[in-house]
Amino acid sequence: MKKYIKYKFTDSQVEAINQLSNLIENGKYTFKYQTCPCGAEILDTEFITNKEKFGMPINYYGCTKCGLIRVMPNMDKKSWLDFYKNIYMYLQKKKIPSKDTYQKYFNIEIDNAKNIFKNAKSIFKSKKLSSLELFDFGCGYGGMLSYFETLNIKSFGCDYDDEAVKFAKEKGLTVEVGGVETFKNKKFDIILMSHVIEHLDNPKKTLLDLSGKLKEGGIIYIETPGYRDIGPERYHYNKEKYFRFYHPFCFDLYSLNVLAAKASLELLEGSEWIKAWYLKKNTKVNLGKKPIKPKLIMLIYSLKRIIWPIELIFNKFKRKFLKIMFRFGKK
Ligand SMILES: [Zn+2]
Repeated sequence: MKKYIKYKFTDSQVEAINQLSNLIENGKYTFKYQTCPCGAEILDTEFITNKEKFGMPINYYGCTKCGLIRVMPNMDKKSWLDFYKNIYMYLQKKKIPSKDTYQKYFNIEIDNAKNIFKNAKSIFKSKKLSSLELFDFGCGYGGMLSYFETLNIKSFGCDYDDEAVKFAKEKGLTVEVGGVETFKNKKFDIILMSHVIEHLDNPKKTLLDLSGKLKEGGIIYIETPGYRDIGPERYHYNKEKYFRFYHPFCFDLYSLNVLAAKASLELLEGSEWIKAWYLKKNTKVNLGKKPIKPKLIMLIYSLKRIIWPIELIFNKFKRKFLKIMFRFGKK
């Protein structure tokens, strides 16, 4: 076992970690330098960290122009495809999924869809649900599709995981194996991309392709673990826990806005633990305010890592206090 393994990994995870590091060390997986998808040069970067959850020898750099944090050099497409086919599942999941666990994932997806819809009431309120067509890009087992179908929204999905697609098909859902090339001649009112963009090898191209699949006035929902929200409630400011091998792109809301703008998408509403809605526009897109650079925020987080328990208690107290004031105000 590699000695840098510090977390409690299961046997199948440890096996996957060793397999992956061998593939990297032996040069079976190859890496290449990429400019930032925002268009900035390779040199427009600052070093962030070389530590990630599984101890792999990769480096994260932050773009000084847009703030996107990316792995550089990043694995090439061929290596990523092999990784997702043969290693990802064993690395990511504590247990090797069996048929019984598919239903569990499906139910989790339903809950996610419920939350997405509940939190976007203002976005949906002007729309007649039964006239909408939705596309879930990276739909997994189809749970989200199944929920939006219950709202009378006609729903379509795609995923590269053929086992998951097979499961979704058995549920009677309209799904295809693959990516943006699926449902070729269809256009949609809503596109969902939940926990997908951080895994892509070319997020700019995918966003452009997806924007092309949107009808005029269509909207796209993007959910991805944003690096500005790794505080006391999530990763306790521990970068090593947040960064993981299969997330070559780590966004904050601003860097996602910059990338989305290249696909004519403008932020409607969104949070830094990124859950964001974008509208397709045919006029100039507004980017919002540029925040402080990623290197500086990571430095602040290194300090906060020491004092996070105090912040956690303070946040809890603040929430309780606000609750009391709110009740008091209503009287
Ligand atoms: Zn950039």
